[in-house]
Amino acid sequence: MKQITKGVYFIQGQDEMIPDSHVYILGQPSSGDLSLIDGGLMGKGSYKVQSIQGLGIDLSHIKRVIMTHTHLDHIGCLPEIQKEIPHAELWVHTKEAEALEQGDDRCVYGMEMFKSMCQAQYGLKPDSFSFRVDKKLEGGESLEIGGMAWEVLYIPGHSPGSIGLYNRERKILIPGDVVYADYAIGRFDLHGASGAQHRDSLMTLAGLEVDILLPGHNRIVEDLPPDYILKTARQWEPFLA
Ligand SMILES: [Zn+2]
Ligand SMILES: [Zn+2]
Repeated sequence: MKQITKGVYFIQGQDEMIPDSHVYILGQPSSGDLSLIDGGLMGKGSYKVQSIQGLGIDLSHIKRVIMTHTHLDHIGCLPEIQKEIPHAELWVHTKEAEALEQGDDRCVYGMEMFKSMCQAQYGLKPDSFSFRVDKKLEGGESLEIGGMAWEVLYIPGHSPGSIGLYNRERKILIPGDVVYADYAIGRFDLHGASGAQHRDSLMTLAGLEVDILLPGHNRIVEDLPPDYILKTARQWEPFLA
């Protein structure tokens, strides 16, 4: 865990057989209005909560969890986090929020075979991923939270309701699993994914000035070269039909 810049903290995922997503904490500490971005894999809730406390953050100041998307490696420990921070709201893009509220977990697991394996391995019940969503995001919102301005970007493709968060002032992008460091991108073959949408979403992100890239997995980059996302998009374009 570390402070990336004032009001942006990073808790590294602890990958196992299945990856565990990173968590970012957004908001000026003095605001008492902090947001968690994503949760992580099953069993990682206490690690994430302890890391938050290790940063000296009072759990009562965490007002919401905003999901970049609802794949298992991001939402798996959300029930554990909600137990520790029960007052925190849950914000998800409409496309995945409706599924969560209806108990439709196809997007969470991504594929049927993976679902039965995970249910057996982690003792998950059929209704483990049914949630009430407090705010449904569409993309295009300008959030003024925790004393900072974050734009919500709708960037589907990796999943049907993937969002990114962008701070224009400090050129910080949190793209979920849409784009990673080292010219990598998220997979585009799971339930509700679309290569063509993924390509368009990469082009949307390529139009932003980004200095700090904070993806859902792997390395974070604090001095992103110019045109990095554009080059990544061009490299992957032939595969994203
Ligand atoms: Zn994902
Ligand atoms: Zn992920």
